Amino acid sequence: MLPVQPGSYIIGEFLEDWNNIKNNQCYILLTLNDGIVYKRLENEINRQQRLLLKSDNTEYKPYYLSVDEVIEVWQAKGIVSFDVPHERALNDLNNQRLMQMMDEMRAEIKVNTHNRFEKLEYRTEEDFLQHLHLNGEDTSLSEKTQYIEVFPKSILNRVTSPDIGKSWSMNPYQGCEHGCTYCYARNSHEYWGYSAGSDFERKILVKKTAPYLLEKAFQKASWQPEPIMLSGNTDCYQPIEKERKITREILKVFEKYRHPVGIITKNALIQRDIDILKRLNERNLIHVSISITTLDEKIRRVMEPRTATVKRRLQTIELLAQNGIPVNVMFAPVIPGLTSHEAMAIAEASSKAGAIAMNYTMVRLNGRIAIIFMDWVKKNFPDRYEKIKHGIEEAHGGNLNDSQFGRRMKGEGKFTEQVQQSIALAKKKFFADKTYPEYNCDDFLRIPKGQFSLGL
Ligand code: SF4
Repeated sequence: MLPVQPGSYIIGEFLEDWNNIKNNQCYILLTLNDGIVYKRLENEINRQQRLLLKSDNTEYKPYYLSVDEVIEVWQAKGIVSFDVPHERALNDLNNQRLMQMMDEMRAEIKVNTHNRFEKLEYRTEEDFLQHLHLNGEDTSLSEKTQYIEVFPKSILNRVTSPDIGKSWSMNPYQGCEHGCTYCYARNSHEYWGYSAGSDFERKILVKKTAPYLLEKAFQKASWQPEPIMLSGNTDCYQPIEKERKITREILKVFEKYRHPVGIITKNALIQRDIDILKRLNERNLIHVSISITTLDEKIRRVMEPRTATVKRRLQTIELLAQNGIPVNVMFAPVIPGLTSHEAMAIAEASSKAGAIAMNYTMVRLNGRIAIIFMDWVKKNFPDRYEKIKHGIEEAHGGNLNDSQFGRRMKGEGKFTEQVQQSIALAKKKFFADKTYPEYNCDDFLRIPKGQFSLGL
């Protein structure tokens, strides 16, 4: 058997139980230190807790890999090659189907992790993208974004995390076209049947009945007003909001019922709703957080590709502050070794713009995010890869992920202490004389059942 041609695509089936690895069969391994490798395997897990990896290319010698080094195993099920021998053969392959497959794969330019609930997955490689570019194909993601309407029964999620306190959150959308590489919400897309990778950014679920569902919740006799966060797993001002205006309609419901609401966003589109925000603020019903993770536009562009620029975010803080709306700047998440030195500069710039408070969270890479984020670091900041990895691990008890309340958001260890000290200093210098107002939960208007104001 000949080795696989460069540029080929290997179709794999996720293997849950590694005891089922068959000798001399081909597998794709996702490994801790070597990334993705495609090899024939000899299964020595039972006896030695290791695998023997063999290449069909005799130039490469077999070698052993401990199971501790292995993250995922996929059994190779087929190979698609684009090394087409001549035009006649291309026709035989069914031209149309081939073009369709190219189209599907072209969209997968980011690492698209496997959805645990699906069996088969396509993986793509950079050389395929180069092939497309050379042939004048467009590989941009934005034109490929799909908006899918979904109709949930309810819209409010109870938040009981000790890190955040007791509150509510709601998501007018699922997935986020902003595409921040570190986004913890990526994992949530798997529950909707999509991947945490590029699906999270280009298959956006739209909940157009969200305002109606919110109003329905407020009309329950048992409803007790508590701040509701927009949003938990998405950015309510991501690009599609400009056209769909679901968040704007939601804000009208908050205004009508005089109910407190918090917004966190990385998009300047919030400026559009300044009229409603001002009215909400007259009754202390609104808190706004603008996330600024870095002042370095070069980092921002690759780390949070479709968010507002740093300049636009600072302008947004300025406009909100000029209109009296309390703005908190979220230095979140802090990336050790990449953005962790920026606390003072971000505090200064945002306080000059009018922010009156600052908070932070430490990056944590739960589930599929570890693969997506570390792959991104490797490609964009290869010289800082080790520093960033060790910094994150140190903040989370030696792991990239962290589910322990308290530590998972704020981190621990020497590095974290340094970051915390610089944030404390920054707060003292720029925000010490400022007070963030409390939410007003006392003006809630009870409106009789059935009096909906929104035409859907
Ligand atoms: S803006 Fe927020 S929700 Fe959207 S991708 Fe970035 S971190 Fe995730």
